[in-house]
Amino acid sequence: MDSSTSPLTSERIDVFWEEGMLKHYTGTGVFDTLTDPGFLEVLEKHPENSDRVKNMVSILKKGPISQYISWNAGRLALISELLTFHTQEYIDELMQADKDGGKILCEGTILNPGSWKASLFAAGTTLSAMKHILDGNGKIAYALVRPPGHHAQPSRADGYCFLNNAGLAVQLALNSGCKKVAVIDIDVHYGNGTAEGFYRSDNVLTISLHMNHGTWGPSHPQNGSVDELGEGEGYGFNLNIPLPNGTGDRGYEYAMHELVIPAVQKFEPDIMVLVVGQDSSAVSFFSLLKSTKPKLFSSVPYIFILCT
Ligand SMILES: [Zn+2]
Repeated sequence: MDSSTSPLTSERIDVFWEEGMLKHYTGTGVFDTLTDPGFLEVLEKHPENSDRVKNMVSILKKGPISQYISWNAGRLALISELLTFHTQEYIDELMQADKDGGKILCEGTILNPGSWKASLFAAGTTLSAMKHILDGNGKIAYALVRPPGHHAQPSRADGYCFLNNAGLAVQLALNSGCKKVAVIDIDVHYGNGTAEGFYRSDNVLTISLHMNHGTWGPSHPQNGSVDELGEGEGYGFNLNIPLPNGTGDRGYEYAMHELVIPAVQKFEPDIMVLVVGQDSSAVSFFSLLKSTKPKLFSSVPYIFILCT
């Protein structure tokens, strides 16, 4: 791209991406069960497969906003970095599972050969993107990563997630001098892992909009209900916004304007992390950004966007 068409810093999105993240194979079966009932013509790909991310890369490279994108490489995370959010015992369990050639950590969440390295790429690439923003090299960064992370809790895997990429990014921001970080998670499922990691902290405001799915087993004990508000010093700093099935763009916009934006404005964060799983709707994310961008972006100087 020559300089005459280079986007200005203010309208440029710095995307961070590593091919190695594609090498996490989640298998086939019925939905995410990895089982073959014996009577299907074609086994389904696990819903968290590399195709979805390949298409995101392709859209950003060839689609209508390609001219606003600046591409950056990621990296592998260091084990010491993982310990800013996760427990040593849990990381040891994941490394042992990798050494043993794989392990089903919980329902639908399988670590296969290659998965651990892909997870380290996802975490490291997220940290590169956050560092880029913290160093003042851009205003909006997008970490395009998989495996996803927002269900991974400090000491357990959940919902196709091993390492909590958002949690690691938040910790890096805090450790780099940010006093307050806001997380807004619009994935259709509750961002329980990130919420759990900062449940006792008043430095991090975690907000999640999600369908009202409740707990889904031992790996996901949280309900995502409005009364899960945080604990101790963190009381009042976790905002759960469960939405009824069928909530459309207008419902999301209403929740953003009435609940999310006022909470973020009151909190006055130094930086905001948007966790944008795109399973709530095909258009929600764009619709939300369009209608809330002026208010949301004027509330905080820097935005960090993370693919769940
Ligand atoms: Zn989801």
